[in-house]
Amino acid sequence: MTVSICVSCKLPFVKTTRSRMTECLPCWKQAQGYDLTKSDIAHQSLADEFNSTLEAQKTMSKTITQLLSEIQTLKSHNQTPTSSTSLSPEFLKSLIMLCHPDKHSNSTLSTEVTKQLLAMRKK
Ligand SMILES: [Zn+2]
Repeated sequence: MTVSICVSCKLPFVKTTRSRMTECLPCWKQAQGYDLTKSDIAHQSLADEFNSTLEAQKTMSKTITQLLSEIQTLKSHNQTPTSSTSLSPEFLKSLIMLCHPDKHSNSTLSTEVTKQLLAMRKK
């Protein structure tokens, strides 16, 4: 069994894997000129419900993916750089000299980086 999207009503419908049906049964019946029974109408409203559930599921998994990547970003920001311990004081000094806001027309980035480098030196 697979879920396909009906070419006529754009709603999902379940078909057997081998079936070549491109539209749901009620749509097919309508196209053939058959009258729709109560169960056909029930089928359509269920398909409608199913569709909104699918949409909600898509939105939810998108949100989950976003949240996971945000968590990942937060985690990487939180990590104390493991390499900081291996930075020699001389190297740190060079970095501070290179990043100094005076040399970068007081850019926000260089101010921020210098601040962090100075904090690392204190450790
Ligand atoms: Zn249909």
